[in-house]
Amino acid sequence: MKVPVDDYLQQVLGECAGDEGEVADYIPELAAADPDRLAVALCVADGTVYAAGDADVRFSIQSISKPFVYALALADRGQEAVLDRVGVEPSGDAFNEISLEEDTGRPRNPMINVGAITTHALVGGDECSEQDRCEQVRAGLSAFAGRELSVDEAVFASEMETADRNLALAHLVRSHDIIAGNAHETVRGYVRQCALLVDVRDLAVMAMTLAAAGRNPLTGEQVVPEAVCRQVLSVMATCGMYDAAGDWLTNVGIPAKSGVAGGIIGALPGQVGIGTFSPRLDRFGNSARGVNVCERLSNDMGLHLMSAP
Ligand code: GLU
Repeated sequence: MKVPVDDYLQQVLGECAGDEGEVADYIPELAAADPDRLAVALCVADGTVYAAGDADVRFSIQSISKPFVYALALADRGQEAVLDRVGVEPSGDAFNEISLEEDTGRPRNPMINVGAITTHALVGGDECSEQDRCEQVRAGLSAFAGRELSVDEAVFASEMETADRNLALAHLVRSHDIIAGNAHETVRGYVRQCALLVDVRDLAVMAMTLAAAGRNPLTGEQVVPEAVCRQVLSVMATCGMYDAAGDWLTNVGIPAKSGVAGGIIGALPGQVGIGTFSPRLDRFGNSARGVNVCERLSNDMGLHLMSAP
């Protein structure tokens, strides 16, 4: 018997509603999140979006911004210039580790903080002001989402109070001449990027835009070139899920990125963009119920990249 997609998604949420994991608390404002929120959305190639659960609740995008800002940097500066400053190798280290190549000082990949701070600094070029760069990032991520996104100022302020480690990482890459601008301004911009507010529908559309070779399925806008999406999705597949990237690729098999506020995106080329939200995180820092929901969707719908069609 066929069930409508929204009913199916509701059923999946009901079956994945365990209470394992802990809400992130190293950013004070995130500790205040309601741990029971749970939502999922799917966006398919024609732009239809299906959603269930707390789909209207907005939360900060956090590390899910990283692949999109990597895409903006690649589109803006070109692949070679970006590769000169940030590598594409999984680090096996925690997201906030000092993960730099020994000889060059280049961050190992753009999905860990030190790499993401660097890709943020690349957008708009070395001479770009903090304000202009923040606006380019906000506008760029809005183009991926198909609506104007805005910053949660409370999350931004809260994270700046505890940003010592990110500041240290920015000073470090600056000492290696990997970033050119002021380290404080760069971290402020990066933290603003992480504080952009989204819901699961936004995430699903953003993921589908990557999966659709850069064309937003709602607006029709070509946000970034196709080659950029291939690069970004490849790095998501190998580095997107913190230290659980291998588990994720074998169990779910979809290029993905998670964030500490509890969001996850999955982007299956040509087929579907997935967004999930649930604030409790597992020991790797990935949304515990979000991982279960994605695993279930992948199995039910045969989405694993490595499965024969
Ligand atoms: N803004 C957060 C940080 O830099 C993002 C971390 C994450 O989502 O993994 O610590």
